Amino acid sequence: MFIYTDIVEKFSCEMCGQCCRNSWRVTVDEQSYLRNQALFVGTGREWEFNQAFNKLAHSEGYGEYAYIAKQPAGGCWFLDTDNRCRLHKEGGHRQLDAVCQTFPRYPMSTARGIEITLSFSCPAVLKLADRIEPLKLIRSEQSPIELLPDNYVAEIHPAQQPLSNPLRYYFELEMHFIDILQCRGLSLPKRLTLLNDTAREINSFAKETDIAGKLTYLFNRNYDDMEALNALESSVTASALIENFFVSFVFKKPFYIYGVEKTLRLFNYMWQQINSSRNIIDTIRQLEFQYGHDRTALSTKV
Ligand code: SF4
Repeated sequence: MFIYTDIVEKFSCEMCGQCCRNSWRVTVDEQSYLRNQALFVGTGREWEFNQAFNKLAHSEGYGEYAYIAKQPAGGCWFLDTDNRCRLHKEGGHRQLDAVCQTFPRYPMSTARGIEITLSFSCPAVLKLADRIEPLKLIRSEQSPIELLPDNYVAEIHPAQQPLSNPLRYYFELEMHFIDILQCRGLSLPKRLTLLNDTAREINSFAKETDIAGKLTYLFNRNYDDMEALNALESSVTASALIENFFVSFVFKKPFYIYGVEKTLRLFNYMWQQINSSRNIIDTIRQLEFQYGHDRTALSTKV
């Protein structure tokens, strides 16, 4: 089963080169390293290979073997003056490392199947998400994109959580949080308040008996309230992009990966930044860049 936000199948790279100019370090796995070594050595450019691909002293995570150097003025070593990738021009999409083949797609392996959303740090994604229509989750037996094997950003298996942990019911929680974020009978700040209150109440169920029963009661209570509010006239204007950003962020499963308290702190911080911003699109792009890709930022900055 594939579960994905509907913008995934609409995405098309605009070749703006923004992702190749970001300050992040693009790491490559051993296979990509060797594939590129064969290309460069085979064409008499071993000197360039040695400059462009730097082996890591210590692997920093799954599949991280080396990293691609930057040009002296910044930007990826292989970024050409026309914003295109020289590796792509020479060897096609499959010549790229897994990170570059996948970005801005965000594939996760979960107990439900393969789940995919997009990174809002990409301007083309922001354009797709900047719409009044709420994000939809599509369920399909067909993958919307070509996926590399075993190249997942997260592994989510709630059944591995202890019986006393509400995250054992993670998928139900996630769906409920998304329903709250998409309840347009409430203003966005009120939706975030309801999400905060609900998440804190769920957290307080830890170690109690009958967590499933307590969650059902809480969800039904919220749904009754939200149904009544959605029946009222609601106005959705500029907040639709923010809603879509938060929905995609929840779908990336930070509540499961970082825990309820830390994720709420991050949500509230992101809301403050967006709410006080004069350029919402740019702020969302920066927040996604900062917290969607650099996970260490979560422990150091929030
Ligand atoms: S930032 Fe997005 S649109 Fe621009 S080059 Fe990267 S993937 Fe393509």
